[in-house]
Amino acid sequence: MKKQNLETICIQSGWKPKKGEPRVLPIYQSTTFKYDDSEQMARLFDLEDEGYFYTRLQNPTNDAVASKICELEGGAAAMLTSSGQAANFYAIYNICSAGDHIVSSAPIYGGTSNLFTVTMKKMGIDVTLVDPDAPAEEIAKAFQPNTKALFAETISNPSLVVLDIEKFAELAHSHGVPLIVDNTFATPINCRPFEFGADIVTHSTTKYMDGHALTVGGCIVDSGNFDWMAHADKFPGLTTPDESYHGIVYAERFGKKAYITKATAQLMRDLGSIQSPQNAFLLNIGLETLHLRMPRHCENAQKVAEYLESNENVAWVDYPGLKSSKYYDLAQKYMPNGTCGVVAFGLKGGKDFAIRFMDHLKLACIVTHVADARTCVLHPASHTHRQLSEEQLVEAGVRPDLIRFSVGIENAEDIIADIEQAINAAEKN
Ligand code: PLP
Repeated sequence: MKKQNLETICIQSGWKPKKGEPRVLPIYQSTTFKYDDSEQMARLFDLEDEGYFYTRLQNPTNDAVASKICELEGGAAAMLTSSGQAANFYAIYNICSAGDHIVSSAPIYGGTSNLFTVTMKKMGIDVTLVDPDAPAEEIAKAFQPNTKALFAETISNPSLVVLDIEKFAELAHSHGVPLIVDNTFATPINCRPFEFGADIVTHSTTKYMDGHALTVGGCIVDSGNFDWMAHADKFPGLTTPDESYHGIVYAERFGKKAYITKATAQLMRDLGSIQSPQNAFLLNIGLETLHLRMPRHCENAQKVAEYLESNENVAWVDYPGLKSSKYYDLAQKYMPNGTCGVVAFGLKGGKDFAIRFMDHLKLACIVTHVADARTCVLHPASHTHRQLSEEQLVEAGVRPDLIRFSVGIENAEDIIADIEQAINAAEKN
């Protein structure tokens, strides 16, 4: 059968019921799975057979949802994780250990930046942050002999930097390492990074994929395209025997599924950041409408961004769909149908005016969350990025007055009316 379109995959992919089975993806609310004899179970523990034995490693509900996201991204294998943080940590830690190094784009989500620059540093994994807009020759200087991955976000949170994926893929490959792209903001509806050379994609499924602010979750998808054996010295975890599984060599045994099999068999086994099947079930319901929600988020965000540009109290607006955006051309290349629903802007009154404006909003709520069906707002310098110094804020592309406005799927006129009344009210007090 011809490859299905994204809309059909959103609805139909993942759970494929056989005769007499439930039409809707069931929640396999069971920690464990039964076998008839000891030998059957032993083969699972040796990775000789595929099958479920303990939900910390794999669960049918989770696997159905992971396989839907895998198909949306055009990947070879995928796994769910308990959060986007866990997804990014596992994506790196699966191929890095103490003494290794990664290169990452500097403008990324504050939590990921913290993970890389503080927590992973303590684990002995070093990071060099680079300006993604710098020429390739400049970025190339950040690579070292022990570099194991290049990391970036398709559209950065909250600075909305659009990644030149092909430039990054070439940089990664010319240094013998995979490009890992966090595709949370664009979602596979708007961008499929594998089509431009990325090797591994991560998601905070907490955001648009769930879409209703119900569940925290993450996902890692592997394209299966990176040739681990061609760089065997760099990736011994995939290319030499794993003694904890009787000497299996993942890259030899599992081919295009090697990276995800290793992450499941080792990292889930030992660190256990699973998504609960109940959450995976809810995530699946969100995924069924992702293809309807994303265009509406983008359409509304475009209208909000254009309105903000025309308002004299607004100092600046960043939205990759605006012709004035530095990233307009890159966005047209990689996301011609739209980018995301998040708009960043600053008000002329600066930080104090921004806080007053936010306090006067009625429809838009102040929440930590972003990429929800409901319009929400946040001041990163006071909230998500408050642990960063002024210097680090600049490096992360977060201006002190930046307001992150996550446009929902309500009526755009109502969202704009809310912004207008809040700006007017903030002017008065
Ligand atoms: N990646 C991006 C781009 C994010 O925006 C976030 C959270 O905001 C994360 C990862 C972390 O995801 P989670 O909150 O699900 O752990």
